[in-house]
Amino acid sequence: MTIQNDTQKADLIEGGKRLAMVLRALRAKVAPGVTAEELDTLAEQMIRDGGDKPCFLGYTPEGANRPYPATLCVSINDEVVHGIPNESVKTLKEGDIVGLDLGLTHNGVIVDAAITIAVGTVSDETRNLLRATEESLTAGIAQAAAGNHIGDISHAIQKVIEDAGFKVVKELGGHGVGELVHEEPFIPNFGRAGEGEVLTEGMVLALEPIATAGKAAVILSPDGYTYRTKDGSRSAHFEHTILIEKTGGRTITMA
Ligand code: MG
Repeated sequence: MTIQNDTQKADLIEGGKRLAMVLRALRAKVAPGVTAEELDTLAEQMIRDGGDKPCFLGYTPEGANRPYPATLCVSINDEVVHGIPNESVKTLKEGDIVGLDLGLTHNGVIVDAAITIAVGTVSDETRNLLRATEESLTAGIAQAAAGNHIGDISHAIQKVIEDAGFKVVKELGGHGVGELVHEEPFIPNFGRAGEGEVLTEGMVLALEPIATAGKAAVILSPDGYTYRTKDGSRSAHFEHTILIEKTGGRTITMA
């Protein structure tokens, strides 16, 4: 969406604060022995307690054959994105990494964000994967100024991930957000600077770099939602909803 008035902007900002608060609580709860379903339950409870609505629950993305069954996406280790937390028992173990992707609707405005967290102590390579993916998001946001192109964001994200020795997942990427969970434009995490649509003030985008420690190929699981790396390598995902301003992207979902 593109912000039309001050009320909408205030709702976007408030929604982003609330989403960040829930992600902080989830981060604090992550530990060996905690189940994905417990994280999902906490996320849904906190969102509803605030008077808002989970926006992934019951949402059917393009190409899916059934609605998403949970509030939160919980993707562990080689699960790339859209891991379902409540259809099998998934228990976090020491040394795992877990991606948490969450969206909520506040006064009709949708915000979307994700973090990937180490469960206890992880290897140096895994720590670097998390750091590079998060840094690539920061680099992408810095390019999200009115007048720049989508390719400026894509290129900045790709460069940070590949310079660190990791791979960008090509099939998945960022998107417009606000009125719907997924809106135009699609924002690839790879590309050339100066190419693609021009960003304009007031656009609301979800930027979401997704990187792998091994090869970039991903496969969709039989559940219709969970993407995994084809080679079983680990994958990281960070996401913020941002507002395009004159000088750059303003992060709405800062945790
Ligand atoms: Mg998203």
